Amino acid sequence: MIMAEECTFCRIIAGQIPATIIHSDDRTFAFLDINPANKGHTLVLTRKHYENLNEIPANELGSLFEAVQKISKAIEKGLKAEGYNILMNNKRPAGQIIDHAHIHIIPRFKGDEMQVRLGWAYKKYEQGEDKTISEKIKKHL
Ligand code: AMP
Ligand code: ZN
Repeated sequence: MIMAEECTFCRIIAGQIPATIIHSDDRTFAFLDINPANKGHTLVLTRKHYENLNEIPANELGSLFEAVQKISKAIEKGLKAEGYNILMNNKRPAGQIIDHAHIHIIPRFKGDEMQVRLGWAYKKYEQGEDKTISEKIKKHL
């Protein structure tokens, strides 16, 4: 089992730091976020320590997203949420604070006025720029 001694989330998984656990299986783990954007805000992660999405081996992604879907449905049913946001911060400029890759599930309720930390104002592509940008991305797929 990959574990980083100083990682808060590895320590939660190891039972060394208390958390409100929502889900646990042989590959994945989930607990309530200590500072929820809405009540029921849950973090889903791999048991093994990977820093961000780039580092998670492809064969672990399926089980991670299956857990995200299963827990999202349970949040909707259990909390009577009317929707939910899935959010993942990868690396510092994107707002990642804890370097153990994790997916946020935030339950949403009509009129809840939840403030997302990462709101954005639209930027506009110049003529043809969307095509250039899409080519730059696709070259690496
Ligand atoms: P991120 O910016 O995606 O790295 O978010 C880290 C999240 O972890 C934040 O929403 C924190 O509120 C949450 N968090 C930090 N420490 C704990 C903890 N001990 N238990 C539960 N959630 C935590
Ligand atoms: Zn960790």
